[in-house]
Amino acid sequence: MSTVRTRFAPSPTGFMHVGNLRTALYAWLLARSEQGKFILRIEDTDQARYVANAVEVIYATLKSAGLDHDEGPDKDGGVGPYVQSERKGLYRQYAEKLVASGDAYYCFCEKCESDDDENAVHDAADVCPCRSLAAADAAARVAAGSPHVIRQKIDRSGTSTFTDAVFGEITIENKVLDDQILLKRDDMPTYNFANVVDDHLMGITHVVRGSEYLSSTPKYNLLYRAFGWEIPVYVHLPLIMGRDAEGNVSKLSKRHGSVSFENLVAEGYLPDAIVNYIALLGWSPKSDREIFTLAELAEAFRISGLNKSPAVFDYTKLRWMNSEYIKAMPLADFAAVAKPFAQLDGTALAEKWDQVAALLHQRVEVLSDCAAMIGFLKAVPEFDLALFTHKKSKSDVENTRTDLPEIRQRLAGISDWNAENISGALSQFAAEKEIKAGRPMWQARIAVSGCAVTPGGPGEIMEILGKEESLRRIDAALARF
Ligand code: GLU
Repeated sequence: MSTVRTRFAPSPTGFMHVGNLRTALYAWLLARSEQGKFILRIEDTDQARYVANAVEVIYATLKSAGLDHDEGPDKDGGVGPYVQSERKGLYRQYAEKLVASGDAYYCFCEKCESDDDENAVHDAADVCPCRSLAAADAAARVAAGSPHVIRQKIDRSGTSTFTDAVFGEITIENKVLDDQILLKRDDMPTYNFANVVDDHLMGITHVVRGSEYLSSTPKYNLLYRAFGWEIPVYVHLPLIMGRDAEGNVSKLSKRHGSVSFENLVAEGYLPDAIVNYIALLGWSPKSDREIFTLAELAEAFRISGLNKSPAVFDYTKLRWMNSEYIKAMPLADFAAVAKPFAQLDGTALAEKWDQVAALLHQRVEVLSDCAAMIGFLKAVPEFDLALFTHKKSKSDVENTRTDLPEIRQRLAGISDWNAENISGALSQFAAEKEIKAGRPMWQARIAVSGCAVTPGGPGEIMEILGKEESLRRIDAALARF
């Protein structure tokens, strides 16, 4: 069997939707699982939609997701150029071949003269008058410089059937197929033409793309046949859906949450966790396993594990998976990636980031949680004295009034200020008074943090705050009784 060659063919539209990234991932996994090649092709023929910088976003996303390509604009494999606009000169000869074989025709209709008008001109039911022009007349008009496009000539009788690796056998009525434009007036191909010519010339064996292209596939197959080219294996992927607050499911969009890779990363999701999560959005390893490195995914990936029913993007699940990835990271790596999210720059705590990071590491689910979780380290929030009341540790406002001055005194006596000694002093106080250790722990923690929930206990928190600041906070609390 020939080497598997897959491609990712994004249009540079400015950001990487998770659906596009999933397409790239599956194409990559298919190539890697078969020791094949993964090709990057930039589809920029629709110049009206071109967005500056978008190509950089594509490169940066693939890199950060770990999807390395074997061939692409920056890596020649001998079948380039890999940017469609740079291939512009080669499409006309192929379109003309189809005109010669009767599979395409010149169309001189006025409305077709707009470059970005791909399909709007004749709807499926219309028959373009140019379709029946005598070949010699049409050729003469072309030779005379008459502006024209080239359209595919489709026989609308009967049905077309093809097999997709995910969706199975698909049959459509040919009457729904339109004489789509293949080559625009300026010689730029449409996607509908370029994808066929390029996939063939680039030796693509498996076409992995979104299911929105399923309905056009019979038209592509007619082109492959007209050229006498082998039809690739089609691997169309189901839509990714989102669920709104009311439980309604619709195509994933911004109202469901972040939908681009870069926004998810900016929110504090780790690229590895995002990739792992989207790998499972439409593919199943046929086991309960959920955590996979990219290499493990490449090992486990099979086309037969792809699912044709739409997958629902579950942000809660992604959050969970992200927390698993964070917990599994070495602390130093976590500290490095979480730092910008903690927003400690310019504060005295910046120097203590390693200690703060240790507090957060096993508790953060998404990196953007960091700032809020440690807000109390920067300043004690306003809090109600009722917070000192805690049933389980048998703390209340009254006993805090009497305990806290003594706690302060003992803490003030600590010469070597660290979490162990701070906790030791609190425990000793509890032991001497024959009360639960939880009571002074709670009282001290509330006094220095003003929060019912904090990452870490009073010892860890006070060690980070330092002795002076910890005592100052206890004094401020005492002043309120
Ligand atoms: N440029 C197309 C897109 O971004 C690619 C479709 C395909 O993979 O053939 O949707």
